[in-house]
Amino acid sequence: MLETKNLKKVYKTKKGVAVEALKGVSIKFAEKGMVFLLGRSGSGKSTLLNLLGGLDKYDNGEIIIKGVSSKDFKQNHFDSYRNTYVGFIFQEYNILEEFSVGANIALAIELQGRKATDKEINDILEKVDLVGFGDRKPNELSGGQKQRVAIARALVKNPQIIMADEPTGALDSNTGKQVFDTLKKLSKSKLVIVVSHDREFAQEYGDRIIELADGQVMSDVERSGENREDESSAIQYGRDELVIRKGYHLTEVDREMINKYLAEATDDVKVKVQSQENKGFVTTDQEKIQIKKDNFKLIKSKLPLKNAFKIGASSLKHKKIRLAITIILSFVAFAMFALADTFGSYNHIKTCTNSIIDTNIKYASVSKSKYISNDGNGYWDEASYKLNKEDIEKLSKNTGLDFKGVYPEKDGSIAINNYDKNVELTKNEQASLYSTMFVGYAEITDKDLKKMGYNVVAGRLPQGDKNEMAMSQYMYKLFEKAGYVDNKGNKTEISSPRDMIGKKLQLNKNEYTVVGIIDTKVDIDRYKKIIEDPTGKSSAERLTNFALSQELDSISNYSFASVIMVGSGHLEKIKACQSTSIPMDQFNMDFYVNDYEYEVSANAIEKLGNADKSKITWVNGAKTRLGKKEVIVSANSFAHRDTSMSKKEILKYLKDNPTFTWDCFKNNSTTQKEEDGWKIVGIIDADEDIYILPDDIYNQDWNDDAGEYIYAVSSMPSKRADIEKLVKYCYKTNKNVRYQLQNSVTFELDTVNETLAVFAKVFLYLGIGFAVFAAIMLSNFIATSISYKKQEIGILRAIGARSNDVFKIFFSESFIIAVVNFLLAAVASGAATIFINTLFRKNVGILITILNFGIRQILLLFVISIAVVAIASFIPVYKIASKRPIEAIRNK
Ligand code: ADP
Ligand code: MG
Repeated sequence: MLETKNLKKVYKTKKGVAVEALKGVSIKFAEKGMVFLLGRSGSGKSTLLNLLGGLDKYDNGEIIIKGVSSKDFKQNHFDSYRNTYVGFIFQEYNILEEFSVGANIALAIELQGRKATDKEINDILEKVDLVGFGDRKPNELSGGQKQRVAIARALVKNPQIIMADEPTGALDSNTGKQVFDTLKKLSKSKLVIVVSHDREFAQEYGDRIIELADGQVMSDVERSGENREDESSAIQYGRDELVIRKGYHLTEVDREMINKYLAEATDDVKVKVQSQENKGFVTTDQEKIQIKKDNFKLIKSKLPLKNAFKIGASSLKHKKIRLAITIILSFVAFAMFALADTFGSYNHIKTCTNSIIDTNIKYASVSKSKYISNDGNGYWDEASYKLNKEDIEKLSKNTGLDFKGVYPEKDGSIAINNYDKNVELTKNEQASLYSTMFVGYAEITDKDLKKMGYNVVAGRLPQGDKNEMAMSQYMYKLFEKAGYVDNKGNKTEISSPRDMIGKKLQLNKNEYTVVGIIDTKVDIDRYKKIIEDPTGKSSAERLTNFALSQELDSISNYSFASVIMVGSGHLEKIKACQSTSIPMDQFNMDFYVNDYEYEVSANAIEKLGNADKSKITWVNGAKTRLGKKEVIVSANSFAHRDTSMSKKEILKYLKDNPTFTWDCFKNNSTTQKEEDGWKIVGIIDADEDIYILPDDIYNQDWNDDAGEYIYAVSSMPSKRADIEKLVKYCYKTNKNVRYQLQNSVTFELDTVNETLAVFAKVFLYLGIGFAVFAAIMLSNFIATSISYKKQEIGILRAIGARSNDVFKIFFSESFIIAVVNFLLAAVASGAATIFINTLFRKNVGILITILNFGIRQILLLFVISIAVVAIASFIPVYKIASKRPIEAIRNK
């Protein structure tokens, strides 16, 4: 079965002293029988057995197993060899204290890749006389019972070899007998190698006795069939003792041998006369031992993951407090990491989308903005561009929404005059709650209302063919506060939206009848505070109020809230009546004399052909067309640096024919044009401040791709994906043009974006810090828990588990920790996200959903948790598992 050839083993003690434990041992072991290894303590018995069992490595010589040399075996070959052929029984039992008797036995079965049935376990327990002990824990057993569990564990694998190292060393002689009886029975069909120092037992049970002294075989005898006297074993030469069988008569040869022995002896030698010594034994003839070279094969241990998991889980029960503390610390750190990451992975599109959803913004409002590059010093011009029809079509196509343009009047806003201007609207100069201006006209239908979730509070929707309008409930609040004043100056108090129905408003040149009040979902209460007297308020309150008033501005400037809502088709009607003047959207011009001693400004230009000539007062006679460098200006806009001038004075001044400098620049060009020698040839009494310019100048392309609509509104889609699509589109730049989403959220976001980006970076590093801390916590726990189990790993190895199985067991234990950690951290960080976001929204009034917890964080938490425990368990297990099993068992 087994054969050693000139086997040598040298130990190095910690101090570096070499101890030669085996000095060249050559033994052949037969297929079966009970072989005793006898010898004094320190003679090398355990060393030999450990080498035979592959628990330790030999330095020289070789061990041949079933004819196969183990010279080139790797550690895992030895593991499989034990798993396949060897049942090992230790003096100190080495059963796993944390598992029940049954589980200890089941493990050995499972390592061979079989299923451990209750029946098999019970059968084996019966064989070792431990029926009913299956559920006991090792610490509830006596030494003898423990040893029998160890035997059962060795037996259950049905190994061809059983090795036992002083199996009865810790037992009383009666229990010892039982153990030997069991082993003896087994030796009928197996090779049983027993290390012992008990000669009597050896002679009683052994089929062969090999005696070691000082790392060498001193004698090797086998039971003789005829019980005949054996001459050669009558004298035994020990290192320090000479044992002679009682009644033996020394021959001449013996005398010479003894003399030689004494001459070579280094220690003191005791001479002992023993009775019955080796009676019935003869020197073993190793030549006769045949080693069968039949099918040597190795079963790789394979512990099913399920069982590894069970073992791993059950061992967790034993360090509850440490485990709880570790998990609490690490999950908190992990949660902090996830939180930091939600912030660290700040993404303006996601944030914007979430904020819009959380703020429940119902309208999607978009304006046009252009990037003006000035020698690399670019900026976004958000004020100068209007949307044209193509823009609106493009927007609708790309976002899938139905956008409507809001049409302003040429000179900007449309003031409301039909309210009592004596009523104080605000006590805070910086802010107003009520808007006294409409931003423009927009057509609105029932369908639009439905889409936006708006509803008619009073009256009905306007008809497009009439001068009918509806206004928002927000605009209505102005009248509720200040009353309605008709064109003749009669005031009516307004107390409900219904009171406004039928009232007429004079809006620029047109009179409109209010037919409906519509709730556009402006949360007016949110902004109530902003008109309170700021004196005495804390700076924090002032800041909040400032933010709120900015927010309200964005609503009133860009939603349906401050729009004159008209019926379908009405916009065409308005456009037809609009003046032909060109507003100074993307350009500016003024005229001055002597460094602005005299100056004129305006906000639109016109040509003489379109102007109302009856309103012009000519300086030096009427003209039918303007000559080169001739201009007509509004009387209202003529100014002197120090004194105000009447129209008469202006005319008088201009009569003297002064020349003006024309100063003109376009927003998108760097060059400013200045031209001397301009003459003001007339003054016009127009509503708006305009210049009437020569035709060739008027006809230039002053406003690039001039649009008509100041912004476009639609309803905010209800699906997150659609909102995100809109947001994405609106953050995209195409040929220097961006359609800017306009609402309180984007307004706030644009102001804080940069700050958030900085915070994001800080939090990212903070998050990494937390993750590292948590990783160290977890690794530390796992590493200590594993090194604490070094001995168990050794035992598992001794019964045949490969490093792989050991890793599986410890990894499943760690895996459970990781999963618990992950779940807790995910729930905690998710909850904290909701909590923090609500806190900010409710208490601080910020509309931005700052933390965006999502799949990314969940995945990160999972991956990092698992990776940390995988690495943390792999390294120590690998380190221990790559040691020789015997070292691990000794737990050094
Ligand atoms: P036995 O089992 O017969 O009592 P061992 O095989 O345990 O003897 O030991 C043989 C010799 O090797 C002894 O001298 C012992 O001190 C030494 N030895 C055993 N194990 C080690 C070890 N791990 N390190 C150093 N010396 C050792
Ligand atoms: Mg020993």
